[in-house]
Amino acid sequence: MRILVTGAAGFLGSHLCDRLLAEGHEVVGMDNFITGDPQNLAHLAGNEHFSFIRHDVTQYIFVPGKIDAVLHFASPASPNRNSPYGYPNLPIQTLKVGALGTHNALGVAKAHGARFLLASTSEVYGDPEVHPQPESYWGRVNPIGERSVYDEAKRFAEAMTMAYHRYHGVDTRIVRIFNTYGPRMRLDDGRVIPNFIKQALRGEPLTVYGDGSQTRSFCYVDDLIDGIYRLLMSDEHEPVNIGNPAEFTILELAEIVNKITGNNAGVVFLKSERDKDDPQRRCPDITKAHTILGWEPKVDLEEGLRRTIPDFKRRLAQA
Ligand code: NAD
Ligand code: UDP
Repeated sequence: MRILVTGAAGFLGSHLCDRLLAEGHEVVGMDNFITGDPQNLAHLAGNEHFSFIRHDVTQYIFVPGKIDAVLHFASPASPNRNSPYGYPNLPIQTLKVGALGTHNALGVAKAHGARFLLASTSEVYGDPEVHPQPESYWGRVNPIGERSVYDEAKRFAEAMTMAYHRYHGVDTRIVRIFNTYGPRMRLDDGRVIPNFIKQALRGEPLTVYGDGSQTRSFCYVDDLIDGIYRLLMSDEHEPVNIGNPAEFTILELAEIVNKITGNNAGVVFLKSERDKDDPQRRCPDITKAHTILGWEPKVDLEEGLRRTIPDFKRRLAQA
């Protein structure tokens, strides 16, 4: 297939391009670098099966030649208001890429008769009352909170995707991605794993927001990309959770990062930094992915961190 990947210069987009190329597809990457980094694609320079278009997908998208699939991954993804790359500091851009960007990307898929896959998120469940979260749970999102620019844009994007499927017959997929980490995450986007690894490698205390009792379930990037590839090749049109159901408190995560890196500086609790819509618990119910895709994650948290840390070390040394 010839596949358009929006958000190609980002963390997940770049890994996705690698996997698609490894599977023998031709890839057209698209990005405006608002939170991404050209370095994430530098290794593909000169690859005759890869091309890149610098473009803001909230503007009309034109791609020369035939397209067989569109994978829409463009969107800021970090909720951290202390980072210039966090969506609280890019609120309009985040709403626009989720809404207008998704509309344009669906338009490309419709025009080319192409398959479409939307990168949605566990944030559609908001601060959930149902645990773990199955796809059938409708969520609990504050429509005007700091996170709403992301959550509501993604909910709109899911609705738009289903509308194109039902009304225009576009062959769509929706993946609800739970917290994923690995090499190439931006050092300074403020998400918890880059923050903790960076702080640990510098011998600083890890900044735990609130009391650290909130939970997340962390998926290693290779596992996630494998689930997404299987979904793309399936014919499932309704949302599918992809994530690792092993759940950790943020304090447990901090202790694991300090142990693996040999950091003795401990943690510091920053009560004021926890935003009030920060979900208290998050864990995917992956029964559906297991049943219809035969997928389950293989890399546990410690192993995934061990695979991630060398990349952070290298980039910190260059910074
Ligand atoms: P990222 O910030 O590394 O990548 C996003 C990419 O989209 C960046 O390269 C950015 O420059 C690009 N982009 C943003 N707006 C754009 C626009 N208007 N036009 C063109 N390009 C644009 O983040 P990521 O973690 O790789 O996330 C990728 C996708 O996966 C996002 O849609 C995100 O919502 C979703 N997601 C990620 C996670 C996770 O844990 N990493 C969890 C849930 C959902
Ligand atoms: N967090 C933290 N310290 C940090 C960054 C984040 O304790 O330096 C917490 C944050 O409050 C949240 C969790 O870690 O409860 C995960 O945050 P992240 O930004 O990675 O993404 P989220 O899962 O909230 O979208």
